[in-house]
Amino acid sequence: MTLPTGAAAPIDEQLDKAGRVFERLSPKLAKHFHTMRREGLIDLENRKGKRAGAFCTSFSDEGKVAIFCNSIGDEGDVKTLMHEMGHAFQGWESQWIEAVELRWPTSDGAEVHSMGMEFLSLPHLGEFFPPEQLARFRRSRWRRAIELLCYVCVVDAFQHWVYENPKAGFDERDQAWIRFQDTYMPGIDWSGDAEPFRALRWYAQLHVFRYPFYYIDYAIAETGAMQLGMLDARDHERCLETYLELCRLGGTGSVLELFSQAGLRSPFEPGLMADLMNHASGALAEA
Ligand SMILES: [Zn+2]
Repeated sequence: MTLPTGAAAPIDEQLDKAGRVFERLSPKLAKHFHTMRREGLIDLENRKGKRAGAFCTSFSDEGKVAIFCNSIGDEGDVKTLMHEMGHAFQGWESQWIEAVELRWPTSDGAEVHSMGMEFLSLPHLGEFFPPEQLARFRRSRWRRAIELLCYVCVVDAFQHWVYENPKAGFDERDQAWIRFQDTYMPGIDWSGDAEPFRALRWYAQLHVFRYPFYYIDYAIAETGAMQLGMLDARDHERCLETYLELCRLGGTGSVLELFSQAGLRSPFEPGLMADLMNHASGALAEA
């Protein structure tokens, strides 16, 4: 395969590097990764005819967990691989749960492990990137977290408004979208070519049409993932214990129960967001 410029690594090399990342992070997690690699449970490469996207799945009768990605050799591959492996680690650690339906959390709790692994792996991604690129990659992960939280507010507030105003027409809906953008994502310069299309963003947001009120789940998960990133910077060992406990709990509780049993603060706790943003601003200032 020909790799585009700035490529992270070819497939085998990506897997070797990921193996070293997980070994540095936790022997237990590395063991899951090596098992998956040995048993062909990581389908990484993009190839003709393969479906798009990335996901993690399990074969409960065999007690195995697999991931599916579409690596093309750019730095986004690293993010996706870490993300899907986060799901996989949870899947492996939840195998002890007898009731198969309780092995995976409900959707509001399902992305904490995957987004959390994106943060936990950050300090070890020197395996993939030279220092300058790594620093950029790290900063961009924290920046995306903040952008995501703001954007989720726009989508969530918009959906509430749509249901409260069922008779509103297209123009009113467009105006409402713009209003919520101004409220939750202020400071964006929309002048120029983008301006006439600004309101159209909500038409592209699948969740508005098909999964009403689902979108806030991403923000709930991100507050858990950012907490793991913050905790890791302060106390790596405790952070790993928290992560592994979260993985072991699977879907045996509600999202708030899972957070609290693993030792994470509730996303609704006053003061949490301020702490996360303080930490994020420090991470963004790092070279
Ligand atoms: Zn995911």
